[in-house]
Amino acid sequence: MPVCYSGPIMADVVIQPKHFLSDKVEHFTESVIREMTRQAMLHEAVNLAQGFPDFPAPAEIKRAAQEAVAADLNQYAITWGAKNLRNAIARQMQEWQGIAVDPETQITVCCGSTEAMISTLLAVCNKGDEVVILEPFYENYGPDAVLSGAKPVFVKLRPPTAADGEWTFDEGELRAAFHHQTKAVILNTPNNPTGKVFTRAELELIRDLCVEFNVLAITDEIYEHILYDGTQHISMAGLDGMSERTVTINGLSKSYSVTGWRVGWAVAPPMITNAIRKVHDFLTVGAPAPLQEAGAAALGLPRAYYENLAAGYKARRDRLMPALSEAGFSCFRPRGAYYVMTDISAFGFADDVAFTKYLVKEIGVAAVPGSSFYNDPRDGAKQVRFAFCKRDATLDEAGKRLKKLQNL
Ligand code: GLN
Repeated sequence: MPVCYSGPIMADVVIQPKHFLSDKVEHFTESVIREMTRQAMLHEAVNLAQGFPDFPAPAEIKRAAQEAVAADLNQYAITWGAKNLRNAIARQMQEWQGIAVDPETQITVCCGSTEAMISTLLAVCNKGDEVVILEPFYENYGPDAVLSGAKPVFVKLRPPTAADGEWTFDEGELRAAFHHQTKAVILNTPNNPTGKVFTRAELELIRDLCVEFNVLAITDEIYEHILYDGTQHISMAGLDGMSERTVTINGLSKSYSVTGWRVGWAVAPPMITNAIRKVHDFLTVGAPAPLQEAGAAALGLPRAYYENLAAGYKARRDRLMPALSEAGFSCFRPRGAYYVMTDISAFGFADDVAFTKYLVKEIGVAAVPGSSFYNDPRDGAKQVRFAFCKRDATLDEAGKRLKKLQNL
């Protein structure tokens, strides 16, 4: 409805409803994942929707944060990141992936990997550039591409079959998505929401396309330490020919159970880092200074910490999956990250949104409708994602409530 104003200054000015809005915001909705958390609170449901742990962070890193505040590290850190944290990130990339990174010229610490991703896309995309995204995809990537003026181009990951047991993509379809307007491909391994861990052969195939078409790989590796069944995380930046054309995104949130601290980073060649730093500086100035110091301490935790982290998540996966199967879900077994994608065909609902509404209101469990991970909602209409980064008691309570689905 247009609003009319006929006051003393400008008589009869008509404000059209969208007059003050950017066209960009027309192209995406608010995050469904975060909306489901609000729904969970409203209905007092068990929240297996948004991927954040409901258990404490490691005592050592909480202490490091407290000490940093007590020592009055309360003012801005260097805009592109506290030196201690950048050094720790470089050291960890060398130790875990054998990748040499210069902390002075190649790292930008941001407000979470979320900001690292959008700052990167804003720094590298021009209007009309295309960005290849494998779907289902973490829901931020679509709006990130739109906000940066780029056009997302989607390529399907196909659900596992009994024969292969893994999410796969078709080489021909991926190749067809690359051409001269392609600026970047966004890759997320270990993958949210599928739990896929990309193999070396798959990464090499993507590498070859990036080199052939002169494309940048932007890899979200936030779940790098959460791996099951003997899978291995391989960083794209470590592959031959990729160090000059990869932006590696990571953060504290998932490895150290501190999603609310909002500390993430982008590692890139110096020229790209310069561009990311400029965008980041004007977007947020910097990530929280005391929590960056605590981050440096976190990255210094011994190897045993990461082994326990992965073992803990494997136990949680193996606790939730049987409960889901018993309730009637068909589960796609994740090899990494802390989500399980399920098929809900057996329940006979119209679609995933109707099903998750029923689930949160009537069953008391919040999950994320599959359509939020696809460009065309119909592709996710039979899928729902559960997060299992929760205490045993939380998972058991969800399992108990989900049993009610058996009577449908
Ligand atoms: N990555 C988490 C998820 O997929 C949380 C994302 C967020 O809300 N920032 O649920």
